[in-house]
Amino acid sequence: MFQSEYLNRVYEGLAQRNAHEPEFLQAVKEVFESLEPVVMARPEIEANGIMERIVEPERIINFRVSWVDDAGKVQVNRGWRIQFNSAIGPYKGGLRLHPSVNQSIIKFLGFEQIFKNSLTGLPMGGGKGGADFDPKGKSDNEIMRFCQAFMTELSKHIGADTDVPAGDIGTGAREIGYMFGQYKRLRNEFTGVLTGKGLSYGGSLARTEATGYGVCYYMKEMLADMNDSFEGKRVVISGSGNVATYACQKATQLGGKVVAMSDSNGYIVDENGIDYKVIKEIKEVKRARIKTYVEYVPSAKYVEGCRGIWSVPCDIALPCATQNELNGDEAKTLIANGVKAVAEGANMPSTPEAVAAFQSAGVAFGPAKAANAGGVATSGLEMSQNSQRLSWTFEEVDAKLHDIMVNIYKSCKDAAERYGMPGNLVAGANIAGFEKVCDAMIWQGIAY
Ligand code: NDP
Repeated sequence: MFQSEYLNRVYEGLAQRNAHEPEFLQAVKEVFESLEPVVMARPEIEANGIMERIVEPERIINFRVSWVDDAGKVQVNRGWRIQFNSAIGPYKGGLRLHPSVNQSIIKFLGFEQIFKNSLTGLPMGGGKGGADFDPKGKSDNEIMRFCQAFMTELSKHIGADTDVPAGDIGTGAREIGYMFGQYKRLRNEFTGVLTGKGLSYGGSLARTEATGYGVCYYMKEMLADMNDSFEGKRVVISGSGNVATYACQKATQLGGKVVAMSDSNGYIVDENGIDYKVIKEIKEVKRARIKTYVEYVPSAKYVEGCRGIWSVPCDIALPCATQNELNGDEAKTLIANGVKAVAEGANMPSTPEAVAAFQSAGVAFGPAKAANAGGVATSGLEMSQNSQRLSWTFEEVDAKLHDIMVNIYKSCKDAAERYGMPGNLVAGANIAGFEKVCDAMIWQGIAY
């Protein structure tokens, strides 16, 4: 599979021991493919057992979350926190609440998070967590009771200098608020133990917007390298959650026209350009389905079935919904319709076949761990503000986010060039993210 015997040995051992974790193995394989030239060029990586250590989480915490629903019935969910790698800072990564959550998904997300956090240039290790809880259709009180029960166990394992969780799918400002309240109650500590907090109790301005804005800042750099810009471009964005909504706002501000967005039921097409404020109203205020967009904008159309979104012709595609939402055939449809650039807002939204199709067709491709790192970077800025007991203005945070995204793009581009793969931002992101963590692991010795 790999030219390096060492990588083959490590991957085969991992695949045997984790045969039931396909998403995790997919993420490791993709990273190993990119790192092959680095591993071959630096024998100290094998000598220090870096690859076998980096694929093994430092700690997996798996726990029962029992709570009582509005009907008085006891419900039981499975919770996880995976503390993957703390070589360059406290564990940092979101909490996903979705019925599809399992150990494989949390491990894949935690593994990716190591390199993403490293790319931001901020001192953050990699972690991830969540539960197989479905927030859809739950009352506000049920959400609160679940979040409190979840935090009752999680609070034993996290802390501002140990592990700082954040939001992800299903965990927004409301859920973070309930979790923070419970942590404070249990520990009697007001610390920056979670990010994505409300503005009145330690949250950072621009955190809500950060991932979506960051994807567009990254795309802006990709386009600039092609002597191009968002100006006048047709943009398709999948999803209509936190990342997608603010990607829509920023893409529009930068001169693009967002013609399609989706949720897990279907997609809307608005040839006049989607107004992100309508999406915000539908998703954040009403918590309704995207099909209701046509009630606000009757000239738009709604199509049932979310995957059809990739058949809408566009210059720029930003998959911002979930993992493996864009496959090889869908990538070929986008290419046939003239897509010029793709940047991933969601984590691993493109299957390996889709990534290969974009790369062989010469479509500029920005991988998730670089393009969507703006969210965790701004969480890092929230941690800094909490430690200093200060709040920066929206403009200050946004300017820092912009600089971080420009630097991430440069690091990816430089690393790809250094290893003879110019323009390959997938390899560049993996290499640039890996090098810092690898060096820190070597310097810290083995029995740390
Ligand atoms: P949200 O829960 O806010 O939104 C997810 C959106 O995706 C919803 O609109 C959901 O629709 C939709 N969706 C789910 N599955 C599909 C599908 N198969 N096709 C189309 N739409 C779908 O999550 P976020 O926006 O926070 O996260 C989205 C992605 O971005 C995730 O991969 C997450 O890990 C990643 N990410 C998020 C960051 C953040 O700061 N929030 C940071 C970095 C990465 P429905 O309502 O129907 O479920």
